Amino acid sequence: MSVKTTISETDLPKILADYDLGEYREFKTFANGAGQTTLLLETSTGKFVLRYYENRPQKHVSFEVKLFNYLRSKSFPVPAIVKNRSGESSGIYKEKPYIIIEFIEGEHGKNPNDFFNNEEAAEVVKVVVHLHNLTKDYNPEYFKDREVFDAKYCWREFEKKHSNLVENEKGKWFKAELEKLEFPTFLLKGLCHADLNYGNFLFKNGKIVAVLDFDMSFYTYLIYDIASLIYWWAWPPEMKVKEKEMALIVSEYSKQRELNKDERAYIYDALKLIILLGISWSEESDFEDSKSKIEFLNLVGREKFLLKLEIEGVYVKESTLQGKGVFAVKDFKKNDLVLEIDDTHVVEDENKLTPEQHAFDLDYLEDKIVLMQEPEKYINHSCNPNTYVKTKSGVRQVLAMRDISKGDEITYDYSINGDNEGTFECRCGSKNCRKIYQGNFFKLPIELQKHYLPYLDDWFSKKHEKEIQGIKDL
Ligand SMILES: [Zn+2]
Repeated sequence: MSVKTTISETDLPKILADYDLGEYREFKTFANGAGQTTLLLETSTGKFVLRYYENRPQKHVSFEVKLFNYLRSKSFPVPAIVKNRSGESSGIYKEKPYIIIEFIEGEHGKNPNDFFNNEEAAEVVKVVVHLHNLTKDYNPEYFKDREVFDAKYCWREFEKKHSNLVENEKGKWFKAELEKLEFPTFLLKGLCHADLNYGNFLFKNGKIVAVLDFDMSFYTYLIYDIASLIYWWAWPPEMKVKEKEMALIVSEYSKQRELNKDERAYIYDALKLIILLGISWSEESDFEDSKSKIEFLNLVGREKFLLKLEIEGVYVKESTLQGKGVFAVKDFKKNDLVLEIDDTHVVEDENKLTPEQHAFDLDYLEDKIVLMQEPEKYINHSCNPNTYVKTKSGVRQVLAMRDISKGDEITYDYSINGDNEGTFECRCGSKNCRKIYQGNFFKLPIELQKHYLPYLDDWFSKKHEKEIQGIKDL
């Protein structure tokens, strides 16, 4: 689908004749790519990418060229655009513009949703927020010549592609959904890449070596790109949106550009806009799938969606206490929800773990044993903890025991809700470190037991009602 080229092989040497790139050898077509024709050219001096714009005016290409040059001047990972002998970055062939770009070796998925993993997603988010920060004061030349993907544009595209639907139920539903979208003027604007699927990131050894294809990028609300990340990285086809991944995207992003609550709230609308744009551009056969995504979001609502984005106020990195640890993305006030624990991975038989399941990741609860998940499994013990755990509506919540500052390590005292005999030597480094950790709450110094009473989880208090009454009576 990416090759609708009007370029024949005999044309390629003619195009190359304007460049100092050696002699033409051969070309290959790229398997993926947007609406433009993209060819891999091999010459006697190396490999290059020819991008032939099938449906874009020259000004649109000039925008991309300027943007590439600007980003390269800021050491942002984009390939260089090769200039021809007259010093021009683009040319015209058969009345359509083209550019020649440096070829960069790297890996990316064949499908847009390929190879999702947290490390790669975090790399992608970092590069996107870097793009936003770099282009904050950048005055994008020719940006008015780019399409602006807003509700109006979306409707125009829908009318073009689905003229047969405009008057019927589908068309009416579509229009009503577009009218619900809200983008208040206080939302921060900047340059968005706008097509953040896997294919547009080249990786080498886990690091991004190039961001490709700014064909869709335009000047808009920065949350558009966050929604695009969620769309591609946290919402694989046929699956419900992955809340943890979604929260990871937002928390990684917030580490480098503060996203205030108002901005976060409208990621919801941007995500809906992206799904609706998808309907405008794709075949009618995809209509129902996308409609069900919109209806899922309608059911959740903007406010609850915002909460889902904020569930994960933490990230995992190396700890000074031990191994990896969990750290606060933002400030928390006393009793704030820090994260929710995923207790759905129940282990039936603790003696029959697979090689990937480790006994040290097991958590012994009232009536089940669960295999702890990321990030909670990395929460370290401290004798001077800053969080505690309470079960609310069946979900264990990690709550702030006191105010926590952005960047602080999240810790809890493993002895709270503990009724086992495990011990270990504690090196938490706090002033009140007990030196020897004790897995049995009732073996803690009695003053500490008293101090911890409000922080016990309800199931634990119920299970040990008598002992706890005893402490209260002291
Ligand atoms: Zn300690």
